Amino acid sequence: MVSRVIPVDTFDLTIFGGTGDLARRKILPGLYRRYLAGQMPDASRIVGAARSDMDDAAYRDEVREALKEFVEPHLVDPEALEGFLGCVHYVAIDATGESGWRKLRDLMRADCVRAFYFSVAPSLFGALAERLHEHGIADPQSRIVVEKPFGRDLASARSLNRTLAEHFDEAQIYRIDHYLGKETVQNLMALRFGNVLFEPLWNSQYVDHIQITVAETVGVGGRGGYYDKSGAMRDMVQNHLMQLLCLIAMEPPSQFEPDAVRDEKLKVIRALDPVRPEDIVRGQYERRGDTPSYLEDVEDGDSRTESFIAMKIHVSNWRWAGTPFYVRTGKRLRARQSEIAVVFKDAPHSIFGAEAGRHRNVLTIRLQPNEGMTLVTTIKEPGLGGMRLIDVPLDMTFAEALGAENEVTDAYERLIMDVIRGNQTLFMRGDEVEAAWAWTDPMIERWSTRDDRPFRYEPGSSGPEESSMLLHRETRRWREIRE
Ligand code: NAP
Repeated sequence: MVSRVIPVDTFDLTIFGGTGDLARRKILPGLYRRYLAGQMPDASRIVGAARSDMDDAAYRDEVREALKEFVEPHLVDPEALEGFLGCVHYVAIDATGESGWRKLRDLMRADCVRAFYFSVAPSLFGALAERLHEHGIADPQSRIVVEKPFGRDLASARSLNRTLAEHFDEAQIYRIDHYLGKETVQNLMALRFGNVLFEPLWNSQYVDHIQITVAETVGVGGRGGYYDKSGAMRDMVQNHLMQLLCLIAMEPPSQFEPDAVRDEKLKVIRALDPVRPEDIVRGQYERRGDTPSYLEDVEDGDSRTESFIAMKIHVSNWRWAGTPFYVRTGKRLRARQSEIAVVFKDAPHSIFGAEAGRHRNVLTIRLQPNEGMTLVTTIKEPGLGGMRLIDVPLDMTFAEALGAENEVTDAYERLIMDVIRGNQTLFMRGDEVEAAWAWTDPMIERWSTRDDRPFRYEPGSSGPEESSMLLHRETRRWREIRE
């Protein structure tokens, strides 16, 4: 099965921060893969922009090195590489200065899509929007792509929204959350709204609870200073986990169309109850052997910032009343694993008697590793000797099920092409981001004013013991984080 490549219009994509880590690791490799797939029209151009002074040739050398490092080796074809580099240009620009803008303006063409990717520190977003506007570089059809973090609380997110709105319409602003670009996340919508099988069961009558886990094995390492100012709540829950929760909890939109989907997500965020302090567990990883602890990583022995958080969340509406959503995310955990598990209720009556044991259907949607889905179903254990039941997974790993030529597309790749197509479905709207901060802020404020200390946890574990208690006290258990 070969995937269909849907053509896009010719585009000029300017990457502010074109020499940075994100551009090198994700944006440029993603564009190269689209070029290989035949999805970059011939006349399209990529313009790197940053302060460093260099010409096109020097930037192309940098891009070549980045692609060799971050693109799968079997895709690095010398001829294709040079073809791609032919589309790459560079302009030296300081976001806060005045030089370079005229050159960028002269590069722009009237007859193609103009997109500007803000892959720079968020403190520069406002300056970039202002200058693009002032120098007449952005036209009413232009799009800007804004990276995370989008604010660090409601006030800063509002202020950023206001600044961007001075120069761009909401329809031109693409707030990126790369989790929404993941194949499995979109499959979650296909699963829910493309099948009749699940939707009738997708409510508190049949779902016991839902677990969302985003576990990482890495610590905060080199970005300790940055991370310590945000923590797991700001860095992961307010955006990525919240988006996943919305897609599971939302009502069916009338169409798969940007505002219809985003309206439904917004309703979910607005239906979230404030989380009680006893339903939140925060943690910091300890030292193990030569591997430094969180406090050593951030070089602040008194930091109260969490590298782990687990919470029990209630969505207060008819569909979900009484069905908790347990979410957790953390660094230096046992394995790199992101998944959503929908744990269904027990059958209302067991005709097989007590010896058949307790069995539950669990639908697991894996984001990483091995994007795919598993449905645990109950069957009879083969063999003689009565009716013993066992749980078996119906497993679909996308890469296996769809074949090698359908390699799962990287999230950034898909999202950049959506920007060029002008499709905002997988991007956050300004009011969604603000609603998410409005829900998050009081919790952060509460533990900051009370000066709460996070619990300690062992690296390579599933987080602090107290996080297990969140579920144990309700006779539930977290799913295992497996190596
Ligand atoms: P980075 O490695 O520090 O790169 C920053 C880029 O911005 C460089 O190209 C830098 O080049 C340029 N720059 C800095 N000051 C500038 C100025 N005044 N005018 C114009 N260009 C300027 O940062 P990054 O990791 O790529 O992150 C970029 C953005 O993506 C940030 O908002 C970050 O939060 C977000 N993000 C990154 C990741 C990731 O995995 N890296 C993941 C999610 C979100 P010069 O110094 O030459 O100007």
